[in-house]
Amino acid sequence: MPISDCLPVLSDAEVSRRLTELTDSGVRVLIGSVSDMAGVARAKAVPLRRAGVFHTAGMGASPSWHVFCADNALAFTEQLNVVGDLRLRADLAAARAIGDGYAWAPAEFFHQDGTPSAGCARGALRGAQAAAEAAGLTAKVGHELEFTLTDGDGQALPARHWQGYGLGAVLDRGTFLADVTDALESAGVPVEQLHAEYGVGQFEVSLAPAEPLRSADDVVLARLLIGRVARGHGMLVSFSPLPFDGGAGNGAHLHLSLERDGVPLLSGGGEPHGLTREGAAAVAGIVAGLPGTLAVFGGSPLSSARLKPGRWSGAFACWGLENREAAVRLVAATGGNPYGAHVELKCGDPSANVYLATAVLLGLAADGVARGAELPGEVPVNPAEEPAVERLPVTQAAALEALEGSATARALLGEEIWEALLAVRHHELRAYGTLGTAELAERFRFAWSS
Ligand code: GLU
Ligand code: MG
Repeated sequence: MPISDCLPVLSDAEVSRRLTELTDSGVRVLIGSVSDMAGVARAKAVPLRRAGVFHTAGMGASPSWHVFCADNALAFTEQLNVVGDLRLRADLAAARAIGDGYAWAPAEFFHQDGTPSAGCARGALRGAQAAAEAAGLTAKVGHELEFTLTDGDGQALPARHWQGYGLGAVLDRGTFLADVTDALESAGVPVEQLHAEYGVGQFEVSLAPAEPLRSADDVVLARLLIGRVARGHGMLVSFSPLPFDGGAGNGAHLHLSLERDGVPLLSGGGEPHGLTREGAAAVAGIVAGLPGTLAVFGGSPLSSARLKPGRWSGAFACWGLENREAAVRLVAATGGNPYGAHVELKCGDPSANVYLATAVLLGLAADGVARGAELPGEVPVNPAEEPAVERLPVTQAAALEALEGSATARALLGEEIWEALLAVRHHELRAYGTLGTAELAERFRFAWSS
């Protein structure tokens, strides 16, 4: 079923059916959350009997919600300030019971007259998905969540005995990981795999591919649940791009596959590694658009401290088959890859708004297809060894300047989001641009945790 451009209002009968279902699952409170320009999830909650109103009329929120920063400051603009009111409408059809008497639903911003707010990130992804579908493209997106566990005071876990990708590391946190798996799967978040990552206390949960809006919802919900399970085990979870100076960074890699009329675009064709003409154009669109949109995939004060060569974070503006240092890694269709061919975008991190990151990735691919963009040469080696390959913008300031100069980014995000995002990230740059990495890591360690 094609996605609607705007969050549909459920019929009274459908609302009561959902409420009965949630009541039967023991739900007493519904949380509706949005993700802001700084990548932080913010929420309102209602007793379940008010869930219908949360869905139809919505709960009040000042337009300043669009300009919340990672440090909770408000980066007011002329349009987004102390005057006015928006409504947060919970998507009741997407609500999930999450245990302990709670349900969670993604919410979208509307005006009081019921029209959608152009500053809504989930609305932007809904629009990007609808536009891709209207152009005949069906996308699936799979997200990876990297995170770092700390002790209950936010300090690093002991490094002794830690092995990157280690069996011992998994067993050491065995009950935590089993509880995370249960929590995610019972909330309908499909866990693809879990492993210990490279950094001390760092783990990764990958989610199975899903339609774009659902995949982004699942990331928000997964972060909430991972944080909740960690608290239950006396720990905290950092989703910061760089939780500890000198430690490993947390990426937020996105996997994208595309089909037209049920036929994959990234395999079965005559272009390099089996890409079809349209598939090659999609990859070209992504690579071409990356420098200008990097700030959408992670424009926070810590993003550039993570995005460094030699860390598999995708710091180079290029693509390559199974190249883990390229921003765009092509994963070809082989027997070892049951989901078929896809591209992995590696340069993004969890300080991004996941709805905007997903929307822009999809939008760049669709734009490449629409204009028949030409695929640049593949980089089959470590890009650091190829002087001709450019780094993506290396500082937050450079990423913001590129975003300001990108007509593609502006068109994909829409004027209101583009302005709000720049206002927020410029505030963060002004306020924290002179801090050293250790201070930044400490200041923002839990800024993106739910
Ligand atoms: N932690 C790395 C990052 O910052 C990614 C490691 C990996 O390839 O899984 O993106
Ligand atoms: Mg990883």
